[in-house]
Amino acid sequence: MLPDPADVLVVTPHPDDAEFGVAGTVARWVNEGRQVVYVVCTNGDKGTDDPDMKPGRLASIREQEQLAAAKLLGVREVVFLRHSDQALEDTPEFRKQLVRLIRMYRPETVVTADPYRRYLWHRDHRIAGQVTLDAVFPYARDYHSYPEFIMHGLEPHKVKEVLLWASDDPNYCLDITDYFDVKLEALKCHRSQVDNIPWDMVASWLRERCAEMAAGRDFELGEAFHRAEVLY
Ligand SMILES: [Zn+2]
Repeated sequence: MLPDPADVLVVTPHPDDAEFGVAGTVARWVNEGRQVVYVVCTNGDKGTDDPDMKPGRLASIREQEQLAAAKLLGVREVVFLRHSDQALEDTPEFRKQLVRLIRMYRPETVVTADPYRRYLWHRDHRIAGQVTLDAVFPYARDYHSYPEFIMHGLEPHKVKEVLLWASDDPNYCLDITDYFDVKLEALKCHRSQVDNIPWDMVASWLRERCAEMAAGRDFELGEAFHRAEVLY
């Protein structure tokens, strides 16, 4: 049985990246009636400075935090792939997992981290972004890529567009002025990540970032992406 199709698949390297990158846009899309599904690649079990925090416990806390954030934004479903944090690799298995999900949910839009951000960029972000792009094109699209999928009813699917957050080369920006507060609230759900920084600082830094991304446009706050259309 295949799930109901989703309009948008968000592939996030770690729990919380999607909230930084695309949560305002997600809240806006949900309000406009689009169905959004999250795919969380790693379990985030190394994202702490606390030497007493056990990785297994951190992973389960971070899943709960991600579920709370997704619920607040109106995300329909969250799929956890549970790869180990800092251990994501460009493997045939990981690519196949993403192709399977694209063919299951048949999204029009796929959103992930820009793998081509220069210099210091988390390796998991680079790899999640790259493998997602590969999964969209050509693997999800091509009939003969995975004959075993066809046998299970997972037909080829052509995604319409890919949006990449944290891009050095943004060419697309969506107005999130009315959704900035809910983006902040969703981010706040990731307590284990943001609790050690004064919240006012996080909020004003993020507001500045979203204002910068909207600079020169006729709205105050935006989320910017590199947008690529799948033309072939
Ligand atoms: Zn991350």
